[in-house]
Amino acid sequence: MADEKSLNFIEEIIENDIAAGVNDGRILTRFPPEPNGYLHIGHATSICLNFGLAKKYNGKCNLRFDDTNPVTEETEYVDNIKQDIKWLGFEWDNEFYASDYFEKLYGFAVRLIEKGLAYVDDSTAEEIAATKGSTVAPGSDSPFRNRSIEENLTLFSEMRAGKYKDGEKTLRAKIDMAHPNLLLRDPLMYRIKHAHHHRTGNDWCIYPMYDFAHGQSDSIEEITHSICTLEFIHHRPLYNWFIEQLGIFPSRQFEFARRNLTYTVMSKRKLLQLVNEQHVAGWDDPRMPTISGMRRRGYPAVALRQFSDTVGIAKRENIVDIGLLEFYVRENLNKSTDRVMAVLDPLKLVVTNYELDGEVFEIENNPETPNGTRSVPFSRELWIEREDFMEVPAKKYFRLAPGNLVRLKGAYIVRCEGCKKAEDGTIEEVYCTYLPESKSGNDTSGLSVKGTIHWVSTKDAITAEVRLYDRLFRVEDPSSEDGDFKEYINPDSLNVLPAVYIEPALQRAVAGESYQFMRKGYFCVDSESTPGKLVFNRTVTLKDAWAKEVKRN
Ligand code: ATP
Ligand code: MG
Repeated sequence: MADEKSLNFIEEIIENDIAAGVNDGRILTRFPPEPNGYLHIGHATSICLNFGLAKKYNGKCNLRFDDTNPVTEETEYVDNIKQDIKWLGFEWDNEFYASDYFEKLYGFAVRLIEKGLAYVDDSTAEEIAATKGSTVAPGSDSPFRNRSIEENLTLFSEMRAGKYKDGEKTLRAKIDMAHPNLLLRDPLMYRIKHAHHHRTGNDWCIYPMYDFAHGQSDSIEEITHSICTLEFIHHRPLYNWFIEQLGIFPSRQFEFARRNLTYTVMSKRKLLQLVNEQHVAGWDDPRMPTISGMRRRGYPAVALRQFSDTVGIAKRENIVDIGLLEFYVRENLNKSTDRVMAVLDPLKLVVTNYELDGEVFEIENNPETPNGTRSVPFSRELWIEREDFMEVPAKKYFRLAPGNLVRLKGAYIVRCEGCKKAEDGTIEEVYCTYLPESKSGNDTSGLSVKGTIHWVSTKDAITAEVRLYDRLFRVEDPSSEDGDFKEYINPDSLNVLPAVYIEPALQRAVAGESYQFMRKGYFCVDSESTPGKLVFNRTVTLKDAWAKEVKRN
């Protein structure tokens, strides 16, 4: 990039480290998703940050699945996470799994027991919580805190061997029950969970806690800069404590603020509820803030990257206007998509004086990025948008109204002659005459008209289903409202148009392709689309109709 962007605080730390020769200037980051759901746009920020730093500083970035909780994790999630990262345009140097370190982590735990820094506790979860103390009062020691090293080693190996039931025993670090940071009051290191793990199967029935897995995994991989979100800031002293006591590679943790987006929710727990309770069609529903949902909606990967990079890395939680993401989506699609004609709300237009047959117009695909033309058949009967005709025109209405001249995009100028109405007043057909000398590209009519409308020849049109999407929630930040976030779901977030008329060139459109439907917005071919039943998703409108709407209210 040509402009000198100022460094974010993590880049400053890295540049200082390189200057000071820390780790010989080597930079190794990691992206550590827990495979308990699909990635969302917040994760995209973390991906762009971690992979971006590695790239900028000639370093590397690992993909590490933080799979230490057997109950919520699934291989399906692992596969989708990998697909999403690749689609975003990044490649990891190594693919690791925290579960691959279970044996090493067990060894680390044994080492701490041997140093007198960990003990097996028989207290229940309730008892442990009750003796934790508070921010103003110290906690109290567990009655099991002073077990001998030998006894602890025996009990811990029995825990591993499956001798105890879930919750019967835990392994705790022996730090200080009066520590001002509650996380250092003898934190849990291991819990018993007789559960099947997506990779290790039934090999283990004890699983390390986040605090005793994350930092150690960083250290095993020799991660230099371990970047996580702000809620872990109070865990940092514990992260350092384990590494120091074990004398292992000194990875360091840095925190940045979570990125949120307006009109949606971001926590995987909430997204899972939307999926399970069928408020959406799945994790990749085009209304979801997931990377896979946005891909299916037609958002280009580059727009997600630009969005992630532009907002910058903050130290305070922030909620970013979805309008900014849509701005990047439009900007990219404007350059990359072919313009085609599709009539979403059809009304028949009859060109009464048109007698030719088989006339075809060559219409430019993309005036922004010229790439040729395509053939569009014209005929005596055309579909136009219902909103492009008004029997009694409003002021400054330059489209079809009796007596008005309008250009049919890429074809002729027509004069509107009138319409046919049903008994209830519904307009059934509109009539016009065309001016043969006004043919696009060879216009000798000398007329200039104010309105141009799109059209599709009725006998050549193909039919497609079009899905129009709106915000999934009615309020900017559903998570901060009273009550359940699901009360704020927008009931009109999906509007299916079963039969839209499209020009025949799109018969061969394949899933994932994007187009601009002239005057209507950007649309992409949905993954459910087939040649027999084409399905298009509206990615985004041409202009920000929503912002106007908000202003009006
Ligand atoms: P969630 O709360 O949405 O379930 P998580 O933090 O539990 O997210 P992980 O799979 O643990 O999800 O996250 C992987 C990485 O992505 C972590 O480093 C995490 O800090 C980061 N991350 C998650 N959500 C966001 C967000 N909204 N903004 C920025 N980074 C995020
Ligand atoms: Mg997490």
